[in-house]
Amino acid sequence: MTTVANRLAAFVRTAVLAVLALACLTAAAFAEGAPIASDGRVVGDDNRTRFVLDLTGEVDLSAFTLAEPYRVVVDLPEIDFRLPAGTGTTGRGLVSDWRYGQFAAGRSRIVLDVTGPVKIDKAFVLPAIENQPARLVLDLLKTSAAAFDEDLRKSQLARDTANEAPVQKADQLPPPDRSKREKPLIVIDPGHGGVDSGTVSASGVREKDIVLAFAKKLQERLERTGKVAVLLTRTDDTFLPLAARVQFGRDHAADLFLSIHADSEHVGSVRGATVYTLSDKASDQEAAALAAKENASDLIAGLDLQQETGDVTDILVDLTRRETRNFSASFAGGLVGDLASATRMIKNPRRSAGFQVLRAHDVPSVLLEIGYLSNDQDEKLLTSDEWRLRVADAVTQAVLRFFGQKYAYLGK
Ligand SMILES: [Zn+2]
Repeated sequence: MTTVANRLAAFVRTAVLAVLALACLTAAAFAEGAPIASDGRVVGDDNRTRFVLDLTGEVDLSAFTLAEPYRVVVDLPEIDFRLPAGTGTTGRGLVSDWRYGQFAAGRSRIVLDVTGPVKIDKAFVLPAIENQPARLVLDLLKTSAAAFDEDLRKSQLARDTANEAPVQKADQLPPPDRSKREKPLIVIDPGHGGVDSGTVSASGVREKDIVLAFAKKLQERLERTGKVAVLLTRTDDTFLPLAARVQFGRDHAADLFLSIHADSEHVGSVRGATVYTLSDKASDQEAAALAAKENASDLIAGLDLQQETGDVTDILVDLTRRETRNFSASFAGGLVGDLASATRMIKNPRRSAGFQVLRAHDVPSVLLEIGYLSNDQDEKLLTSDEWRLRVADAVTQAVLRFFGQKYAYLGK
């Protein structure tokens, strides 16, 4: 690798660890007295558009633009968002839609998708006056692609400098030694979170909520057996970048990484669960499309995607990767069997594609799509406690069998 690529890799790693460190400190509850956002709206036209958010108090903000696709990001301290359901799903003028949520511990973020290159003309917070709440105001102007690129270059320079300052020295502890463990460790990764809702059903059920509920139930059922240890990558409604999820599994030297998602389709009749593993070439078109959708999580949350550092070419890494992929495939195969007895599966439920979150070369990793939020019957199941318990028990069975084969000490 070139020096630049090395430095970039080091920077990405440090940034990921910093986000992880922050995520570990995240408390489930909102900080006392976080300002409440009660309403948000977009006004204006295709040349000049204003975004307004009503708040119960004044806050500091920073706003910046991103390209590919064009977005505007507003970073805020912790905000308790209590906006009417469906807020942000439509826009006006230069804003096509927008979303909001927790971004990291004590930090909230708003991401606006814009129709083309824009310039942030003004970004400020008006204090409350008489009957008016405090208001966050963002004024956007249409601009040319060339002017946008120039602004972006300048603001990225400024932000890179700003970003480097608060990064703490990463925890240098080596990953735990798997062979010294009493129980295998499973990392469950509930997809999305915070500013990234994932897919949303017609009635407003959000993927990020149902996968978190499922992950918690699965943790409970797995721990109940006394045979495995479990950690979750997130335990509350906070966003976590894909690389941070992968790193979490690697830092804990997880014996199995299980990412939980729910899907949606234009065709409402499609339903059932699917089990995915990583592959360079997708098993089919739908799998490729799904991986692209899930891999867009960082974009949706307004992350400025760093250049891919590429897979390391090293013979030992290759050997580990091959072994890891075999373990992943073995678990996935067993999981399909156990799931099929507990819930409906889609046609060809064992698929593969290039999911970023499954990329750890040394942690067996599988992604489970528990069903389709675009299907009414699946939606009912996914939100039902009874179904959740049944499917969590099926996954638990698959996990125990997998480790029973891998580690003799687990017994049958
Ligand atoms: Zn998802």
